[in-house]
Amino acid sequence: MPELPEVETVRRGLEPELPGQRVAEAWGHPSSKFNSAGELVGAEIDDVRRRGKYLLFGLVDDRELIVHLGMTGQLTWHFAADDHLIDKYVRAWWLMEDGGRLQLRDVRRFGRVAVVDAGHYETLPTLHHLGPEPFDDGFTDVMFWAALKTSSRCIKTQLLSQRPIAGVGNIYADEACWVAQVSPISRRITKASASRLLAALRDVMGSAIDNGGTTLRDYRTVDGSSGDNQQHLLCYGRAGEPCLRCSKPLTSRVLDGRTTTWCRSCQPAR
Ligand SMILES: [Zn+2]
Repeated sequence: MPELPEVETVRRGLEPELPGQRVAEAWGHPSSKFNSAGELVGAEIDDVRRRGKYLLFGLVDDRELIVHLGMTGQLTWHFAADDHLIDKYVRAWWLMEDGGRLQLRDVRRFGRVAVVDAGHYETLPTLHHLGPEPFDDGFTDVMFWAALKTSSRCIKTQLLSQRPIAGVGNIYADEACWVAQVSPISRRITKASASRLLAALRDVMGSAIDNGGTTLRDYRTVDGSSGDNQQHLLCYGRAGEPCLRCSKPLTSRVLDGRTTTWCRSCQPAR
């Protein structure tokens, strides 16, 4: 599933292309998750932003196009003549006046397209209640620790909830917990551990952005190529293999529906 680094990589790929573009034609799959795509005909794109795992396209008319990639969403940018790129899994596209085409392909249809008045996210509860951006200067480890302390759920479950921090999914939660030596199944965390965990989240997600995101299966950059960060994972997906810190085998367990990998030896539960 695309997480913050993958969505940020897509954003950076689109930012030089889209501002100033006007939508000439648009189409959305006739389900409520995608059919608002057509509302963009005639609109001009002003900027390309991101909050957590959401892409926000500001429009000159004070609306926003919101795109969430779900599990298998691929948002690509190419020229309309490349019609062979359109298949039955394309859920929405926007054809610009100059011939460029922004296209959302989403095999499993967990993605979402919405058009809202700028800043009005009430119809998208996860976005509306999203925690702070990891790289915001004003977001401190004390704020992060305070947010984690308000819940008794497992640390990893809290990270995936998007409430203490925005943009973290299964891959970077496992990676950051391993780096910070925090147990993902622990329900309590010290201030020092929360500081280490926030630093680790910034570190692993910052590196992943530098590497163009993690492609395990579906994720693609805007030109359709794969990211490189899958070659740099330290813990995620390595269950049974030796911990790169202590050499004991990494443990894996399903936690709240998500496979979780960690080292019982150097990430002891509190
Ligand atoms: Zn270990």
